Amino acid sequence: MHAPTLGSLDVLQKTLIRVDSEGTIISRHQSGTDDFESSLAHAHQCDALTSMGCDQIMIPGLVDLHIHAPQWPQLGKALHLPLQDWLQKYTFPLEARYSDIEYARCVYSSLVNSLLANGTTTAMYFATIHEEATTLLASTCLESGQRAYVGRVAMDDPEQCPEYYRDANAKAALAASERSIHHIRQLSGNSTQLVKPVITPRFIPSCSNELLQGLGELASHKQCHVQTHCSESDWEHSYVLNRLAKTDTQALSDFGLLSRHTVLAHSNFITEQDMQLIKQSGSGIAHCALSNSYFADSVFPLRRALEKSLRVGLGTDIAGGHSASMFSACQHAVSASRMLEAGVDTQLTQDKRGQPGSRINYIDAFHLATAGGAAVLDSPTGTFDVGKQFDALLLELNTPSNRLNEFVDTDDWESLLACIVYNAQACNIAHVWVSGRSVKCEQTR
Ligand SMILES: [Zn+2]
Repeated sequence: MHAPTLGSLDVLQKTLIRVDSEGTIISRHQSGTDDFESSLAHAHQCDALTSMGCDQIMIPGLVDLHIHAPQWPQLGKALHLPLQDWLQKYTFPLEARYSDIEYARCVYSSLVNSLLANGTTTAMYFATIHEEATTLLASTCLESGQRAYVGRVAMDDPEQCPEYYRDANAKAALAASERSIHHIRQLSGNSTQLVKPVITPRFIPSCSNELLQGLGELASHKQCHVQTHCSESDWEHSYVLNRLAKTDTQALSDFGLLSRHTVLAHSNFITEQDMQLIKQSGSGIAHCALSNSYFADSVFPLRRALEKSLRVGLGTDIAGGHSASMFSACQHAVSASRMLEAGVDTQLTQDKRGQPGSRINYIDAFHLATAGGAAVLDSPTGTFDVGKQFDALLLELNTPSNRLNEFVDTDDWESLLACIVYNAQACNIAHVWVSGRSVKCEQTR
């Protein structure tokens, strides 16, 4: 099953997918055709056939557009605090620990393995300000076979960043970010650029104008991806309006940080003009519904963004979100959209409570977690179309601890997908491939 376009599910029954040694899907053959029989015989001869059982479904690998790798040990902690207190009391002290490379090694190995076990074949990571630990995260992804986008975090503003955890000044931050790009691109074994560097201003409040301007120039000069937080919460949105007298989106655009290679986390408070600017620039949005419940004071207008043809994917926002599973991200994206549509305050009459036409469904969420997320990154993944890289999950529908299709007709594909999106767990993921390479198999479950 795959969902190349928003809102529709495409089921490839009794299909043979041929993948070359580079991991590219080179052809697809439907059972009953001559090509199918000859390709099948050839695959048998070469001992290169992987067959699926009757209780198995293959879907594209999941794309997580927003993860804070160093916050993995913080999963589920102190989520009752406002964002600013959470950052200052918990997150910054934790992130500062990554000057210790052995601590970084222990956490990053655990994180990358857990994400692969949860089916995340593409991950976009914020690291920390530390160059060595950032390169280590990139090499951990590379060795584990995960497609990844890794950014050294840049943050130099003494007003918002503690003395023990910030770049010394804009110049030092720019030099460190430039070196980090170089180190990741040059990693041994990264000739196909499975792992890419990302310019990562934490968010506008953490960065001086000089740093933001410099990072914009660096992004253009190095042809590099950019990631940052955008208009996430009342506090953050207002802070930027007060400091720069413009919205995050407008400011990022003026600093040269808004391009087709940019991923904006959250963007809950963007205006109509911001949406236009994001659309014109081709930037993408990482919608993190679970994290928004805790820190965004709001629900992102996902349907409105999609109707304006903005490019959107989903993110877990570990550890603002407390789940590593992209199936969980799908579930929360659906339920948040339903709450936005119906409204939540029963003191208001029904006609005043919500925003009609805001909902998405599980097929939309599945698209966003696969093809949609891949499209945001211009990554040749997310579907089983010819020419794409073979990033895929083989789902075992019935495991002893989680039986997904016990009461679903085997030919009711949409209901089957609903069971997967709403209930699949890591135990249902039997195999994971990235670029045709097996990166998780049943024995490691
Ligand atoms: Zn975040």
